[in-house]
Amino acid sequence: MVANNNLLEIYKKYREGRLAHAYLIETNNLTNLMEDLKELIKALNCPEEYQTECSHCNLCNLINKNNLPSLITIAPDGATIKKQQIEDLKISFETKPIYSKYNIYIIKNAEKLNASSANAMLKFIEEPTDGIIGFFLTNNKDVIIPTIKSRCQSLVVTYESNNILEKLNITEEEYKNYQLLIKVYLSKINSSSFISNKDFILSKISERKDIETMFKIIFEIFYQNFLKNQNKEYNEELINIYQEENNSKNIKILNIITKILQDLSYNVNIELLLDKFVIEMRNLNG
Ligand SMILES: [Zn+2]
Repeated sequence: MVANNNLLEIYKKYREGRLAHAYLIETNNLTNLMEDLKELIKALNCPEEYQTECSHCNLCNLINKNNLPSLITIAPDGATIKKQQIEDLKISFETKPIYSKYNIYIIKNAEKLNASSANAMLKFIEEPTDGIIGFFLTNNKDVIIPTIKSRCQSLVVTYESNNILEKLNITEEEYKNYQLLIKVYLSKINSSSFISNKDFILSKISERKDIETMFKIIFEIFYQNFLKNQNKEYNEELINIYQEENNSKNIKILNIITKILQDLSYNVNIELLLDKFVIEMRNLNG
């Protein structure tokens, strides 16, 4: 079934025969929304009574494979969505769909419609043709061209992020680099011979926001250790960077890092903070 509650509202409207011809959806996670939207589109079109993951009908299979001709997704071509992309869409939708009930278009990053492509778009949503549905997706409704915005039914679909890359807004590769850095850093933090720990960090990263990202990951490591010791679900990848089995120690460390993260946001000197972290971590060992 359509898993997302807000999208479920659209499905209910469809069942009531009150589907709008254009929706503007603001979201904090375009990838998740695209997945959920696909489920909704299957539910709107599936000739079977769509239940869960219909995979036997031809139509749902075509949607799964992104091969349904009457479902067109437009993403920015470079910095903007070009007028030609909209013109091509219009031509594709001049004919009624063969497999599905609706011709459906999805405009990803609708904030990237420029004046001329938005203009080309207007005819579509101003004089809606029966059987065409549009989904305009954006991470910020406020920057959508008003003529588009005012002609769409608008909703917000928010996802709670449990993905560390999304939370930290870094790439997989950056994350891997942080992991390596932190692994070395934490393994040596208690050894008195590792006196240049601050230099070690600053030779790899020096921007305040990078130091902040590092401490956020270190926070997650000790938090996941805490969860593991509580027999709760945990992220193994983070545990593998550093293990701490004493949970009262984990709590103390989480407090230390929380304070460090606060100080970072108050513009406290970075070298001072790195020293402070090492000193307080060593103090925990008595
Ligand atoms: Zn189906």
